[in-house]
Amino acid sequence: MTRAFTFPGITTRVLFGSGTLAQTGEELARLGHSRALVLSTPNQKDDAQALADRLGTSAAGVFAGAAMHTPVEVTEQAISAFAEAKADCVISLGGGSTTGLGKAIAVRTGADQIVIPTTYAGSEMTDILGETSGGEKTTRRDPAIRPEVVIYDVDLTLTLPVGLTVTSALNAIAHAMEAFYAPDRNPVIEAMCRDAMRAFKTSIPVLVADPTNRDARAEALYAAWCCSTALGQVSMALHHKLAHVLGGSFGMPHAETHAVLLPHTTAYNAAVVPDLLKPISDVFGAPAGAGLWDFAKSVNAPLSLADLGLAQADLDRAATIALKNAYWNPRPFTETDIRNLLQAAWEGTRPAS
Ligand code: NAD
Repeated sequence: MTRAFTFPGITTRVLFGSGTLAQTGEELARLGHSRALVLSTPNQKDDAQALADRLGTSAAGVFAGAAMHTPVEVTEQAISAFAEAKADCVISLGGGSTTGLGKAIAVRTGADQIVIPTTYAGSEMTDILGETSGGEKTTRRDPAIRPEVVIYDVDLTLTLPVGLTVTSALNAIAHAMEAFYAPDRNPVIEAMCRDAMRAFKTSIPVLVADPTNRDARAEALYAAWCCSTALGQVSMALHHKLAHVLGGSFGMPHAETHAVLLPHTTAYNAAVVPDLLKPISDVFGAPAGAGLWDFAKSVNAPLSLADLGLAQADLDRAATIALKNAYWNPRPFTETDIRNLLQAAWEGTRPAS
């Protein structure tokens, strides 16, 4: 029997396709804006400038200082640039770091956001903002954070390096994995996440061999949209908590850390909710944690926290921090459970469940 559910609706307008970047001006006008500040990382400054040039007088300028984990100092600089340029909205062109900066500006100024994602991290469809200040990362949810428009242009993902393609896809799969057992899940999200598993399973191996394969890029970006939508609608649990601790308190790289943790957090929870995680084991192989580990290995993903540079001596402190604030998880845990999970992820061993 279908269980009772609430579907909150999807309020963000989404454009998906190849060459959709060309529709940015129309979307800006549709929102009633005419002076957009275009945001990017230093790495993608040329793309941001090209978009601003294309928008002509509808662009108020470019701010290319976005950085990982949304440092508040960068946000303050960007807000000064936003005010000086008399901008009336932001366009975030890039991965989760750039989207985070756009959200940080929006929640402080009320500015509308158009997001043009170029990775699979999945920040664009969510009402979540993580920010760092004084070395501490805090996360909040607020409807004002959720972007108004998302433009997925497959062409912009053709340049995504193979390594980030793989880890970013595993980052997205982690959103779906936790959505499958989320207490507030709904059938729309479940269907989207199921289809995302299929699409990533077929597209990522193709992209490892040929990162410019446009059909596989389209499949992967579509899957990323599904997973981002899940992240924006339902609660996350142990996996996201651990990734947040390792990123926020130990400076671990975002996508790679998600990639390494995923088989281990999946295995931990699959031991008690194997049926809810069947959409994962159906696609990647059973049991779910081992299936994801095999997939990660087959596409040359990093497998151990040790390889990412985390010292074994940090695992005790990471486990302690992860226990600080209570949060829901399908399988209860103690500090020893978390410590054992982190040890397995640090060593990169194939999980048993
Ligand atoms: P990123 O945005 O930091 O990008 C990594 C690097 O890749 C950057 O230098 C970027 O310019 C470059 N890059 C991005 N797309 C490219 C492309 N197509 N071609 C060439 N280079 C490209 O990495 P990310 O993994 O997308 O985002 C990580 C950040 O996003 C973290 O800070 C994380 O906390 C945040 N995040 C937030 C949410 C949320 O809902 N709040 C969700 C997911 C991730």
